[in-house]
Amino acid sequence: MKKEAAPVGFINKANYQTGSNRNFTHSAMEKKKPSVLLHACCGPCSTACVERLVQDFEVTLYYYNPNITDKEEYLLRKETLLQFVNAYNEEHKDEFTVNFIEGEYDVQRWLDKTAALKDEPEGGKRCDVCFSMRLTETARQAKEMKFDYFTTTMSVSPHKNYDAIKTLGMILDGEYGVTYLDVDFKKKNGFARSVEMSKQYGLYRQGFCGCDYARIAQEAQK
Ligand code: SF4
Repeated sequence: MKKEAAPVGFINKANYQTGSNRNFTHSAMEKKKPSVLLHACCGPCSTACVERLVQDFEVTLYYYNPNITDKEEYLLRKETLLQFVNAYNEEHKDEFTVNFIEGEYDVQRWLDKTAALKDEPEGGKRCDVCFSMRLTETARQAKEMKFDYFTTTMSVSPHKNYDAIKTLGMILDGEYGVTYLDVDFKKKNGFARSVEMSKQYGLYRQGFCGCDYARIAQEAQK
């Protein structure tokens, strides 16, 4: 059975933390859904985030991940994300379209920024720099392309520090003048739903976060 599209211009505030100082900038009086630039780390994490957001927003995925230092892995995750987006759009073609933008694969810049932190454990200072680089670029793009909101799929993972992501989002909200949509996507069963949807769409699910530092440390532990 087909889902009913959400009424245009209406945001179900119960689904969001609304951490931004600006709060929601759209009301039920407006005729179209507000736009959100959703930084997407990979296909599996994007599934449940997209499903949650499309009810209330025009969603554009932004694949900006120079932290995936192995190029083959980077391309594989991009293809997996597109596999999901294309299938999801086809399934919902009468309701909405989820857009896709790829950012620059500036892996050397990421390596330069994190070189001094290569021995940090996953979840440490290197990850803070990594989140910051990716979310800053998302906020910058959102401003340049006149999106109403920006946010990231990273909070769907139980391994990522939601408070650090939120704090960063709020700082960038102030710096760039684009509202950070504060959603802890793992809540309301979000992570479990992403696993379920990944299986449903037959998506490749990677076994490590993204950078070679994390992959090598993980392999050494094994
Ligand atoms: S472990 Fe993940 S979040 Fe941390 S630096 Fe590597 S890619 Fe970035």
